[in-house]
Amino acid sequence: MLIVPSQHHETMLAHAHAGLPNEACGLFAGTIEGDIKTVKAVYSLTNTDQSPEHFSMSPEEQFAAIADIRKQGFVLLGNFHSHPATPARASAEDIRLAFDPSLSYVIISLQEAKPCLKSFLIRGGIATEETVEAQLTSPRSDSLF
Ligand SMILES: [Zn+2]
Repeated sequence: MLIVPSQHHETMLAHAHAGLPNEACGLFAGTIEGDIKTVKAVYSLTNTDQSPEHFSMSPEEQFAAIADIRKQGFVLLGNFHSHPATPARASAEDIRLAFDPSLSYVIISLQEAKPCLKSFLIRGGIATEETVEAQLTSPRSDSLF
């Protein structure tokens, strides 16, 4: 399961929107406890392909993100990219390019008015949807006022 606190969810959606009409991409990191991965940091990277149909993450920005992840004591949990005009499904190319079976591959579809965020585990050429739980970052305690 991938837990995405609302602030990080919003960061990914904002980056996806900012990248239009092209695909946007980035990395995210956090902690792993058992089979629960919790996102603690999102790195919005440049899609050097500048394409609405595919993406390549800027290598320099990837290195900087990885360095920051180490510095913060987090682990790389996965990457995310947007599908400006197609559903939140792993494309044949997404599956072909998935290099690490331990990572979560998040896809944000902007096809409909309401964005759709899904996460996949991609192993042996097969993409399996992973449960995503959006979580409020700072849940308000029940107010007495
Ligand atoms: Zn894709």
